Amino acid sequence: MVYRGTREEMRASQEELDGALEEGTILHTGTVPNRILGKDGRVTGLEIMATRSRYDASGRRSLETVPGTESIIDCTSVIMAIGQESDLSFIRPGDGIDISPRRTIVADDETLATTRPGVYAGGDVVFGPRTLIEAVADGHKAARAMDSFIKRERHHVVVRAQMTPVSSGDLPGPVSRQVQRQDPGKIALDRRTGIAEVEMAYDAATAREQAGRCLKCHIQTVFDGDKCILCGGCVDVCPWDCLKMVGLGSISGDRRVEEVVRARYGRPLDEFQESPATQQAGTAMLKDETRCTRCGLCAARCPTGAITMEAFSFEELVVRDSGGNET
Ligand SMILES: Cc1cc2nc3c(=O)[nH]c(=O)nc-3n(C[C@H](O)[C@H](O)[C@H](O)COP(=O)(O)OP(=O)(O)OC[C@H]3O[C@@H](n4cnc5c(N)ncnc54)[C@H](O)[C@@H]3O)c2cc1C
Ligand code: SF4
Ligand code: SF4
Repeated sequence: MVYRGTREEMRASQEELDGALEEGTILHTGTVPNRILGKDGRVTGLEIMATRSRYDASGRRSLETVPGTESIIDCTSVIMAIGQESDLSFIRPGDGIDISPRRTIVADDETLATTRPGVYAGGDVVFGPRTLIEAVADGHKAARAMDSFIKRERHHVVVRAQMTPVSSGDLPGPVSRQVQRQDPGKIALDRRTGIAEVEMAYDAATAREQAGRCLKCHIQTVFDGDKCILCGGCVDVCPWDCLKMVGLGSISGDRRVEEVVRARYGRPLDEFQESPATQQAGTAMLKDETRCTRCGLCAARCPTGAITMEAFSFEELVVRDSGGNET
């Protein structure tokens, strides 16, 4: 595998890279292909060259090849892995379906209608390489738009979001933190041929146990500043040191932080930074969301009920101009 940057710059995950190395892939980082060598119509090797970084006046880095570093990797096949593109050759000019300069089908962002009435498109062929879940969401969107097209009516989608209090029994239990991640395993190296499925699956019991590690990130700690008496109990009890209470004089933030401070205290954040006395005239609760395991201990400890554990959820309501709604 020939890659122009460093191993750290590769966009593949470490797991994928380790898998490739385990299968015997030899990684040539800091190199680019220069030309393919052949004999009698067959590939015999790939000439590569080393790269080095070059920085322009603004400090932006680009890579350039280093003359005189040519070397040859003997091989019989070369597989280009230079991105993905859809094969749109089946669309003919007379079809009335526009194609963008990026070689994707042009479709409306909301309805996914192409430029030909009654024809819809979504997923990678419209938006370029994305993810499975986005392609599935496009399927939903396009199906609604097709339904409206056939019924000759219009619709729009309303999103309703809500936070619902969660009882302690529905929080992630201690198992979520104690059970270690288990690798489902892979088939033996010598069986990895053709399109063999390499990664294996958990058995039912292990799958349940591993699913129990879910930290239910849709559950949040919700703080009610009016009820807080600054006792610090939540900060003390948090097992992962997620919480910190600081004087407003020691924080800075973007426009939204400034708006929150002004809405609560009626004065700008700057004023809290004027002197040691003003620095403590208001308090901010800081939380590191990346460490929170949704254990709920802070909420249980709070003497005033200022913290609740609440689950975020939303639903989409399709509102039809003809009157009928569906969720
Ligand atoms: C190597 C790789 C790994 C990926 N890993 C992930 C991942 O881990 N998670 C993730 O979310 N996404 C991943 N993706 C992206 C994901 O696979 C795509 O975003 C998703 O499959 C797009 O769905 P789609 O329906 O738009 O297109 P596709 O899934 O590509 O479906 C298009 C279908 O149309 C068929 N087709 C094409 N031309 C014609 C024609 N002329 N006539 C009839 N049929 C035709 C094709 O055979 C294909 O079945 C990965 C993609 C690749 C290539
Ligand atoms: S829910 Fe648990 S981990 Fe999260 S902030 Fe509260 S005590 Fe800390
Ligand atoms: S435990 Fe409750 S009252 Fe005490 S500091 Fe935390 S949020 Fe405020």
